[in-house]
Amino acid sequence: MYSQCRAVGCPNPARAGTSDGLGRLYCRKHHDHYQRHGSLFKPSYKASELNPFRKVALKWLEENREDAWVQNAVAAVKQLYQTAGPHVEAFRLRGLKPRQRAWAHWARLRTSGVDPVKVVSVWLAVEMVIKSDTQPDWRPEYKRVQAAKVVHRMASGSHNKWTQDRLDGSGSWTQEIHVYPHSRGRVLRHIGEDLEKACALLAENCLDKMFVR
Ligand SMILES: [Zn+2]
Repeated sequence: MYSQCRAVGCPNPARAGTSDGLGRLYCRKHHDHYQRHGSLFKPSYKASELNPFRKVALKWLEENREDAWVQNAVAAVKQLYQTAGPHVEAFRLRGLKPRQRAWAHWARLRTSGVDPVKVVSVWLAVEMVIKSDTQPDWRPEYKRVQAAKVVHRMASGSHNKWTQDRLDGSGSWTQEIHVYPHSRGRVLRHIGEDLEKACALLAENCLDKMFVR
């Protein structure tokens, strides 16, 4: 059965059925864009667009560490760290389901020692950049994916390094492998949802105090 991509103005046929169901709605191009960015048309924010807001958020959080909403959000992120289960090497993520990979990500942030306050600041920064955007994508999906992508980059990957002797006896050589988990797809939705839940009350109650439009 033929059906057309649901993205407005797109003439391409939708992809044939895929396991996630989403593929039946959109063509390959729009499907990929949606997976990567959480929006059909809008690209991800650049670091240079987000960083000023991250600074504003972090400064406000540090000045208001005693605030009940701040403590609530930071505690919720710590809770994610603590309930995430064991650290999983990036090499071993392949076979896991997206929900499990999202937990592995929180575990990786924990073992990397990433300050939960910084994680909270990312959610607030994304709220701010969307609010100050003249053509925003307001849907929660976009917000979640944008925040998750930044948080995803905060954890380090897995690194292996080993040295071998050359067969001809002319010394040794060192090989290194660095693996960073891919940042796309449903794992980002899970990470984004987790973070949204942790920060929703803080954003609702305090965003206007730290951010003047
Ligand atoms: Zn399309």
